Amino acid sequence: MASSFLSVALSEVFGSALNGRCSARPELVGVPLPLSATLSVVPSRGGDRLLRALFEPLGYTLTLVRHELDDTHPEWGMSSYYTVTLSNVIPLQKLLTHLYVLIPVLDDEKHYWVGKDEIEKLLAKGKGWLDMHPEKELITLRYLKHRHSLARRALEQLQEDEVSSNEDEELEAKEEPLTLHEQRLTLVRDMLKDSGARKVVDLGCGEGKLLRLLLREKQFTTILGMDVSYQSLERAKERLRIDQLREKDRERIKLIQGSLTYRDERLSEFDGAAVIEVIEHLDPSRLAAFERVVFECARPLTVIVTTPNVEYNVRYATLPSGKFRHKDHRFEWTRAQFESWAQGIAVRFGYSVTFRPVGDEDTEVGAPTQMGVFQR
Ligand code: SAH
Repeated sequence: MASSFLSVALSEVFGSALNGRCSARPELVGVPLPLSATLSVVPSRGGDRLLRALFEPLGYTLTLVRHELDDTHPEWGMSSYYTVTLSNVIPLQKLLTHLYVLIPVLDDEKHYWVGKDEIEKLLAKGKGWLDMHPEKELITLRYLKHRHSLARRALEQLQEDEVSSNEDEELEAKEEPLTLHEQRLTLVRDMLKDSGARKVVDLGCGEGKLLRLLLREKQFTTILGMDVSYQSLERAKERLRIDQLREKDRERIKLIQGSLTYRDERLSEFDGAAVIEVIEHLDPSRLAAFERVVFECARPLTVIVTTPNVEYNVRYATLPSGKFRHKDHRFEWTRAQFESWAQGIAVRFGYSVTFRPVGDEDTEVGAPTQMGVFQR
């Protein structure tokens, strides 16, 4: 499948042509030739329209073949994958730079942070065409993985039509893969810290990834992990190496088995609670019980809840439409659904609630994860 990786491959294989060099026939570098390129599988969630909007302004003629989701199940309908043939009379270097930029734009992969050096790459490869492209905003935003601040800077620089290269911040740029889950957990840790909490509980702690981050923070004097799954707790115990912790740390942390839909005295007297990617695992008919257990009985000062934002699912190229992100999810909510649920809780149980996106925010569908922060 043609994805961002293809851009890397392109620069490996066609490196010299991409940079406009040809030692054998230097005179041919800038000469337009009748060329055509076939991309055997490319994703385009924006359908034919997006493919045409990207390539036609650059003079290409397109032949598009859209693939079925599964050729043994034609009734499942069409996928968002295409075989695309692009034809143009154009210098090879131009063709390659167009593909270098536009394939990642179609791929629209957003699971990684991008570094500021990506601005430079984009401006270098987009030289001479990107500033005139009618879709330059979309191209820039998607190429820079929806990091609006980077995209804004790139567009400003495009306008100035020069490539800044030696600013300090450009130099320290690097690609830092930080998974969505890591982003979520580090944010929750930081917010619990900022809340001033000392006694914290991770409700539905799973294998203890958040607990491990919390354990490193001296501010937290009591850390409790609770999960309904015995197996997850066993794994958490192993991962955290509870048996090998110094006594002082071992006294700070405890794991217990329990269900969030049953009132539990062990959950009282905590300052802060995290409920990370858990509610969507509860049966909707048990949500009311969960609300009372957490917000009426346990009543921590701060409660942080995260859950998928279902609107964002259309951005996962491999997720068939209408499907949830995990088979164990009982529901996934839009931002409006989550916010109205959370506001209901705040009113009923005397909390205030604020919301924030987690992960790269998309202008249309929001961020992949939504977070509600309850305080009383
Ligand atoms: N918070 C963890 C795990 C998320 S997966 C993390 O972010 O990595 C969801 C977890 O919720 C699973 O570990 C599952 O066992 C737990 N869970 C599901 N229903 C539960 C319930 N009723 N009470 C407590 N935990 C529950």
